Amino acid sequence: MEFEVVTIKGLSSNAYLLIGEKMLLVDTLYSRDFNRIERLFCRRSINIEEIDFIFITHYHQDHTGNLARLKSLSGALVIAGEADAPFIEGTKEPPPFGDLSVMGKIAGKIPEPLLRKYNSFPGAKVDRPVSEGDVIEEMGLEVIALPGHTPGGAGLHDKEGARAFTGDIVSNIFGRAGMPVLAASYSLQEIIASQVKLALLGLDAVYPGHGRVIRPDASGKIGDMVKIKRLKYFQEMRSRI
Ligand SMILES: [Zn+2]
Repeated sequence: MEFEVVTIKGLSSNAYLLIGEKMLLVDTLYSRDFNRIERLFCRRSINIEEIDFIFITHYHQDHTGNLARLKSLSGALVIAGEADAPFIEGTKEPPPFGDLSVMGKIAGKIPEPLLRKYNSFPGAKVDRPVSEGDVIEEMGLEVIALPGHTPGGAGLHDKEGARAFTGDIVSNIFGRAGMPVLAASYSLQEIIASQVKLALLGLDAVYPGHGRVIRPDASGKIGDMVKIKRLKYFQEMRSRI
């Protein structure tokens, strides 16, 4: 299914507006980035009410900051990974970042209030909680479960276009595929498994939550990164035995 992708650059994170027969917004930036969203809509002569779907890749506030506001302005249907839905809705406290045994030394030094700031945003109801393989038929997109950075992290796969919207599971801050911020993640093992999944999808372009689009041969680039990271991970695990 044909659609145009418009990047909305926030202070540190990205949102993507997919414009086809229907309109879908991937993530909503920090709440203080609202004017950037407004400006983009104004420039393109689009009304916020025209958004049909808002897809949230994961519950962190640099992706959910404007969710409640945009949902109430547009009436859009909110879609997100089912395991992150209670955190997005604000009905459950997010899990601590404690499962990163390999990175435990670093995670242990992050003060609790700093960790908590990742969940301070106005909650909003997730209308359609999704899991691996679910299809958003109106956009021709398939859901990919990408846990690791958060338990219910999810992406959208456009098979026809060999591209995917992946939230924070891969970054591209230094001009190449990189890891998510581990101090704000919960499972290194799951991060690596999710990255392997992306490496096997034959993607040409990956639209990350932070940094520039990874392309061409996004899957190849992610695969190369995973090989290095897995090696480091196994070396560290072995040194603990
Ligand atoms: Zn994040």
